[in-house]
Amino acid sequence: MAVENRRLSREGARLDVKAHSDPLTGLMNRVAFNNVLAERSRDHVQGELAILFFDLNRFKEINDSLGHTVGDLLLGQVALCLTENLPGAVSVARMGGDEFAAILPVTREVTPEACATAIAESLKQPFLLEGQLVQTGTAIGIAYGNLAYDDGDDLLKRADLAMYEAKSAGINTYRVFDDVMEERMSSRVAIRSELSKAMQENELSLHFQPLVSARTGELRSVEALLRWKSPRLGNVSPGVLVPIAEESGQIIELSNWVIDRALEAAAVLGDVPVGINISPLHFRHSQFAQMIADKMLAAKVKPSSLYIEITEGVLISHMEAAKRTISQLRNLGIKVYLDDFGTGYSSLSYLQNFEFDGMKIDKSFLRNLDQRQQATQIMRSVIDLGHSLDLQVVAEGVETDWQARLLQLLNCDLLQGFHFATPMPLEDVIAFRAANDPAAIDAAPVERRMAV
Ligand code: C2E
Ligand code: CA
Ligand code: CA
Repeated sequence: MAVENRRLSREGARLDVKAHSDPLTGLMNRVAFNNVLAERSRDHVQGELAILFFDLNRFKEINDSLGHTVGDLLLGQVALCLTENLPGAVSVARMGGDEFAAILPVTREVTPEACATAIAESLKQPFLLEGQLVQTGTAIGIAYGNLAYDDGDDLLKRADLAMYEAKSAGINTYRVFDDVMEERMSSRVAIRSELSKAMQENELSLHFQPLVSARTGELRSVEALLRWKSPRLGNVSPGVLVPIAEESGQIIELSNWVIDRALEAAAVLGDVPVGINISPLHFRHSQFAQMIADKMLAAKVKPSSLYIEITEGVLISHMEAAKRTISQLRNLGIKVYLDDFGTGYSSLSYLQNFEFDGMKIDKSFLRNLDQRQQATQIMRSVIDLGHSLDLQVVAEGVETDWQARLLQLLNCDLLQGFHFATPMPLEDVIAFRAANDPAAIDAAPVERRMAV
């Protein structure tokens, strides 16, 4: 009986190990990590510790382009690097995908910052996997605490948030959670809860920014941009709001709201198409094109009165679904533009593999256009590249007359930016259109034509 029991308990232990370890890397898995943290939290374990949160760079891309075997090997190497560089860690775990975390007691000899620096440095070096050189890197978030009075879950959230900050600061860096992040975190929570009210209480609106012909200055289309004037939070920019709504899942509702309002505007503007920014989360929805078709029909808007802007984010994560949606939209007669061209990792390959109608060159390309000869050459090549692929080329962020003239000389098709007009309410677009009437433009001196 005793022998039987021992066998059973050994079996149980094996099952337990299996359930708590990550088979790919041999590290703890998320469940085990959370258990350790919860236990230590419950026991109020004394002593300063840090939670480190890691997210690899370009992992999805590596997996997609070099195959899962290489991806798996890479995760194994990362696990090795983490265990080697985190001496004294209570637990090192793969939290899922390309995310890792560790609990590290802080001593005078072992500081989380020093560990993070060593790990970032080591993961920056290329790995030789299956005969291929693979380069990744990591963003690291660090949260200090003491489980005698801090909650483990909170610390983990903070480390995760600090990791996001590290990610946006650049690759291969770490960030330590601090008061500023704390403040931002609470404003994130506030935004989330205010947003549902905002949609019902008419606090949101769309503004429209003109895109003009580089050659004639004529109004060709407008881009719909979300505006939120919250009585409690003040003006919240879409650059802040959209990522939060994506994280919370509110983006679908928000995006539907934007599409409905943009279609209303398109019905008013008639021959001036309205461009809508669509978040990857919404675009990858299997019924996206059908939903747009239904909404267009209901709003009595022609497909040519609408176009869609997507960023690389859509393409990276769900290539096949994105390809399908793009072709469904184009079959419906709705144009699709690649937005923020040149800011991601693989803009060029996306242009080659996906059928776009146009591309919008990111405003960062324009920044040096005024001073640097090299920047002009790059711009010229990008515009030529777009044309060689039969794309309409748009330059965003045109702020000066000089930039506008140069882009015209470089044969860019459409220009958008504060130099011509800032985003404005629909009524103002109508006035802008009247001022941009081709007849009025033809009659105006050349100088004015460029300035409109
Ligand atoms: P985006 O799609 O690249 O939009 C262009 C952004 O550049 C807008 O910022 C616009 O106001 C700004 N901009 C226009 N001309 C100039 C210029 O000459 N100089 C500079 N420095 N900036 C200029 P905005 O409205 O703050 O929007 C930020 C981002 O938020 C957008 O970038 C887009 O990614 C996202 N967004 C805005 N509205 C929506 C929406 O309805 N849905 C989704 N999913 N995203 C949206
Ligand atoms: Ca856009
Ligand atoms: Ca853009």
